[in-house]
This record gives sequence, structure tokens and C-alpha cells, in this order.
Amino acid sequence: MSETATAATAQAPHYSFFHGVERNFDKAASHTRFEKGILEQIKACNSILQMKFPVRIGDKIEVIEAFRVQHSHHKLPCKGGIRYSMDVNQDEVMALASLMTYKCAIVNVPFGGAKGGIKINPKNYTPFELEKITRRYASELVKKNFIGPGIDVPAPDYGTGAREMSWIADTYASLKPGEVDALGCVTGKPIAQGGVRGRTEATGLGVFYGVREVCNTVEDMKRIGLNTGIEGKRVIVQGLGNVGYHAAKFFYDNGAIIVGLAEYEGGIYNERGLDIYKVVEYRKTTGSLLNYPGAINIKNSAETMEQECDILIPAALENVVNAGNAARIKAKIIGEGANGPLTPEADEILNKKGAIVVPDMYLNAGGVTVSYFEWLKNLSHVRFGRMDKRFSENQNNTILKTVEGLTGKKVTDTERTLIMHGPDEVDLVYSGLEDTMIGSYHEIRESLLQNNGVQDMRTAAFICAINKVGVAYEELGIFP
Ligand code: NAD
Repeated sequence: MSETATAATAQAPHYSFFHGVERNFDKAASHTRFEKGILEQIKACNSILQMKFPVRIGDKIEVIEAFRVQHSHHKLPCKGGIRYSMDVNQDEVMALASLMTYKCAIVNVPFGGAKGGIKINPKNYTPFELEKITRRYASELVKKNFIGPGIDVPAPDYGTGAREMSWIADTYASLKPGEVDALGCVTGKPIAQGGVRGRTEATGLGVFYGVREVCNTVEDMKRIGLNTGIEGKRVIVQGLGNVGYHAAKFFYDNGAIIVGLAEYEGGIYNERGLDIYKVVEYRKTTGSLLNYPGAINIKNSAETMEQECDILIPAALENVVNAGNAARIKAKIIGEGANGPLTPEADEILNKKGAIVVPDMYLNAGGVTVSYFEWLKNLSHVRFGRMDKRFSENQNNTILKTVEGLTGKKVTDTERTLIMHGPDEVDLVYSGLEDTMIGSYHEIRESLLQNNGVQDMRTAAFICAINKVGVAYEELGIFP
């Protein structure tokens, strides 16, 4: 077994994702007022844990390689997902951890960024073996003080989900007997184990709230020649997984027209609109989107993104809009549901065409925002709404009765139910997320307007993040 926990001095491999993030950072940092030393501190990964541990798989012992990187301690705990993939390496985990710092800052989630990874293909292991690997990883984190409600709080990412999070929570709790806030050591847990309602759909809902705010901003819509409001906007979504499906559902439920959908087997298009619920049912039954009644088939799935629409939501993979197809994208709003769906070249082409590119670092931050709510719930040991739901309902009832008494008119039963309703946990989570996505969009927009020469929302979002982290460092006064 070997492990190292060091300040970030790791040598980058030949092609470095982390250096790519640093380049974007430097571009934005030139528009901020911070001295070089502070900028260097913001950029650096504060702690890196690399570990190798043995797990018995069948009749063999396997040495598993894993990482946890805490990019920034300017606010604690650190926060970021854990991925299980054969592509996991230190450079990638460093890059993803640093992006988490900037993402949290943009949406005012008071955490430093972190990320973890185990270099395995989860499909090659049974649930029992995955549990052994996950629990051993969690106990390594405990041993090195790399996990805890006030230290570092992991979450699901590629290849992990609620099941893995509950193994981690249980391992942590059993190694820290009596720690009253133990459940706050990880988020994305099942509801029965301290999870929060609304977490599953949070990222897709955040994508919807963010794009809706773009559409509600009169000056932005004027600039791209569209009417304000989400109703009637034509939307294409790539990827019907967690992010894409929920985003499409919220667009559909709120009056947008889903004209195109793409999955790996191909895409479908219907200018009159697709019923997302029926399409998903159809795909479940037939195993494919293709030949959906009334829609045109697009055999080359990626070409679906090039069809007529107002809004394009790539919510599947990285680099799907690139130098090769960006010029053919007709959408005037591109909302990055996935991480990194646009290459830098595509970003430039689309910005030059006058499209609004809403960056991933902001738009898909709904997951981490609701994770923050879950952590708050775990620390407060009470379900959101438990204290005030009944109070609100009683108060609403009193107001309603008074108004009915004064006017001599009665509302309908449906209206009564709507007016009386006091907030449940899910209502409060949605409301907190909505407020976050609206507020952060206007912060980024303000940063775009204030920084002459900055043309794109991605750089503007980075500037917002650097400003917030920089100020936090200054206020900490930690520089000896
Ligand atoms: P997912 O695995 O649930 O969904 C991905 C979907 O894309 C699947 O349905 C898959 O079949 C589809 N797909 C695969 N190849 C495709 C292709 N060539 N064309 C069209 N569709 C294809 O994953 P997810 O959680 O929805 O994540 C999607 C993206 O969003 C990733 O980039 C992820 O990093 C990012 N993201 C996810 C979250 C979250 O909370 N889930 C949060 C932030 C960012």
C-alpha cells in the first residue's frame, strides 16, 4: 500500500486537462484586480491524496488506485463528486476539483472545490465487490482526514450514485461513533438515509431555470432577435439521461416545444413538437428513439443538433459541438447541460455568430446547489418544511377566510388547495434552486457588461468566481 498527501506540486502529463483549466483561469484573471500571489493561490490544488489499497476480488488480491483532491480550502468543507472510471488519473481529478471551486463560487455555495476518483470500471465488479472497494476507499479517506461534514463532503459523479453514497455514509458513521453530524459527510444519499427531496432532478431543473432566465431577460432576447419568455421556444436536447431527461421535461411542462431529441442510436425531429413523456415511453418499449410516430429520423445522431430550433441543450457528452459542426448550429441559445460539450473553437464560432452560450460551470450547478441543501438538512437534523408547513397553511386559511368574508365571494376548490398549500421539502428545495439560478445568471451578466472586451459568458462566469474566491482569501487574511 502506498499513499501521498501533498501540496499540489504534481508534474502534469503531456496533455493536461488541469493546465487547460488554468489557461481559462488566466484569461479571466487578467480582468480582475488581484495580485499575482493571490491568483496563484486560487489556482493551486491545496491537497492531493493519492492512494493504492488492496481488495480481495474473487480469489485474487487487486491493488486499486484512487484519488481525492481538495482544490481549495478558502471555504470549508470542500465538495465534489467521486467518479469510478478507467480514465481516472491525477491530472483529471485536479482539473475537476478546480472546476468545482469555481462552480460553487458562481452559485454562492459556500464550499471549496474537490473531486475524487477510483480507477476501476464498475461494470467489471459485482455489487458486493463494489461495496468492498467503496468502503475501503471511504476508510482511507477517514484515516487521512479527507472526509467529514466540516472537512470534505463527496457526492455522486460518473459511475456512482445513491447506493455508493450510502456505503460511504455508513462507513464514516461506523468509524466515528457518536458523531452527531455524521450523515453530512456525503451528499446524494437516498432519502431514507438523510438525502433531500429534489436532488435527482436538480441538475436538469437548474438547466431549465437558468435558460428560462436568459429568455426572460428582455435586452438579451432583443439582441438575438427572439421574444421574451420560455413559452413557444423550440428546443433540441441531446442525451436523455439524468440531466437531459429532466431538463426536457421541465421545458415541456412549461410550454416550450421540444422539436428534437437525440440519443446514441439516432435522433428524431418534429417541428410541431414531441411529447417528452410519450417519447420516453416509446423508447422504453422499442429500445430506440427512431421511427417515433410523426417524427423524422436522423440516423447520424449528432446532426440532430444542427436542426432548426431556438435553444440547444447538449446534455450527454464532451466536445460534441466542435470546429466541425459549430457553424451549422442554428440555435441562438446553447445551454451547456453536460460538462464541456463545446470545444473552445466551437465556443468562439458560436459567440462570433452572436449566439448566447450559457456555460456549464453555471448552468449545470443545480446538483451541487441541492447537495448544499442536503448538507444543511443533515446538520440541522430536520426535514425542510417540518416547522413551517402547517403554520403557513393555517395562516393562508385565515387570509382566505377574511378575503371571502370581506368580498362575499368563494374561491373554487382547486383555487383553495393552491392558496392553502404550505411548503413541503421539495417546494423549498425547488424555490432555493430557482432563486440561486436566477441570482447567479444576473451576477454573470453584470460581470459581462462591466468588463470591456469580454465577449463571452464563460469568461464572465470565471471572472465572477475569481472575484469571490479572491475576496474570501483577502478576508481570511491568511497570508503571513
Ligand atoms: P447519464 O449517463 O444519466 O445520461 C447521459 C445520456 O446521454 C444517456 O442517456 C446516454 O445514452 C446519452 N448518450 C450517450 N451517448 C450519446 C450520443 N452519442 N448522443 C446522444 N446521447 C448520448 O448522465 P448525466 O448524469 O445526465 O450527465 C450528463 C452530462 O451532464 C455529463 O457531462 C455530466 O458530467 C454532466 N453533469 C451531470 C450532473 C448530474 O447531476 N447528473 C451534474 C453536473 C453535470
